[in-house]
Amino acid sequence: MRQPRVVLASGYEGGFQPISLGTAASWLSRSGITPVCVDTFVDGIDEAAFANADLVAVSVQMFQSIAPAIEIAETARRVNPSARIVMFGAHANIHAERLLGAHCTEIVRGDWEPALVAAARQSAGEDVALPPELSSAINAGQPITVNIQRSGHMAPSRAILPGLQKYTYAEFGKFLDGGKQPVVGNIETARGCHHSCSYCSVFAATGTKVNFIPIDIVMQDIRQVVEMGATHICFIDAEFINSKRHGIEVVRRMKAEFPSLTFDITTRADHILESKNTIVELNDLGCRFITTAMEFPTQRVLDAVNKDLTLDHIEGAIAYCSEIGAKLNATFILFNPWVSLEDLLGFDQWLDKTGLGETIDPVQFTTRLYLYKGSHLLSNPEVRKLQLVEHDFHYEWKHSDPRVDELFAEMTRSDDPAEFKRCCIKC
Ligand code: SF4
Repeated sequence: MRQPRVVLASGYEGGFQPISLGTAASWLSRSGITPVCVDTFVDGIDEAAFANADLVAVSVQMFQSIAPAIEIAETARRVNPSARIVMFGAHANIHAERLLGAHCTEIVRGDWEPALVAAARQSAGEDVALPPELSSAINAGQPITVNIQRSGHMAPSRAILPGLQKYTYAEFGKFLDGGKQPVVGNIETARGCHHSCSYCSVFAATGTKVNFIPIDIVMQDIRQVVEMGATHICFIDAEFINSKRHGIEVVRRMKAEFPSLTFDITTRADHILESKNTIVELNDLGCRFITTAMEFPTQRVLDAVNKDLTLDHIEGAIAYCSEIGAKLNATFILFNPWVSLEDLLGFDQWLDKTGLGETIDPVQFTTRLYLYKGSHLLSNPEVRKLQLVEHDFHYEWKHSDPRVDELFAEMTRSDDPAEFKRCCIKC
């Protein structure tokens, strides 16, 4: 049997090294297949990479990944019309019906590694059964199988990805404290989240399933990024405290082996309050900041997006972090359908009251709810009443009070209004 020629490609993975390609490469290598990895985010598109490929697998992890993924797929199709083009990742899953046929030949719904191995082997002429999570136009009408319970885990093959130094972690800037920008290694300890916030693309893509990565595998990956020069670890899990033990155990082992590493995590306000001892320990071990999504500080907004948080949770978490000296990187969806003009005008006062005004990133003053197709929010009765303008992969929405949209236009006037602002690392 000949070697299949596989290109793994990514256009955007949150500004980090695309480890979705890295884990796929590990699985392919174990099957004796050596892929080529392309990250157009840092290296641009090299048409020659696609010329002889049997299979081009394109990662679509975030909303912002869609446009570059389509550009990659179109380039591959133009230079190599017979290549099989498979898309995978959270937003490939969410937009499967819109991408399949129009931009790719197949979509992987859920964990992509085993499906890509099967597709690659089949592309080389092997008689292999394709897993049900690999959807093609042929089985598009069948019930969707989303599988994030892959059997076995492997650390990403980082050596075939662009170097860590090519990726700048912009979020870190405001926490530098006069120090120098670190080299950041993005580490995943689990995929998925147990919660069901209705705007969240993690929930839209894979529901409330969580797949933990064994600590030995996570440590293997941490050793790789340290070897590549990482001085800071960004734990890119959508929710670091998915489990009370897993994440903290990773950090304990990491610090025992690499005492000088700093790190940051993302977690919910209620988890901060439920895990106070863990938060103190993380802070003591070198956690530089905690990213936490607060959406908007009114109960009406928190309930509308099914955040399962109270305003007391949010203010309690802020007060507790301030008390122990832990820094919060708070994120908001400031402009949303449930906020009133009066709420918005009182936001600065709330920031002053809680002390968050000192660290809030200015980008947070112009965040607007993103209503992507496939979002659970589209079944919300209040969202259904909004005036919507349809685009290929999302809807623009108008607030019921035009003064709110006027304020948004004013706030974004000196900005690029078309720029999408992320509220956290995974969305
Ligand atoms: S927003 Fe955060 S807590 Fe909510 S479902 Fe998504 S990852 Fe989980």
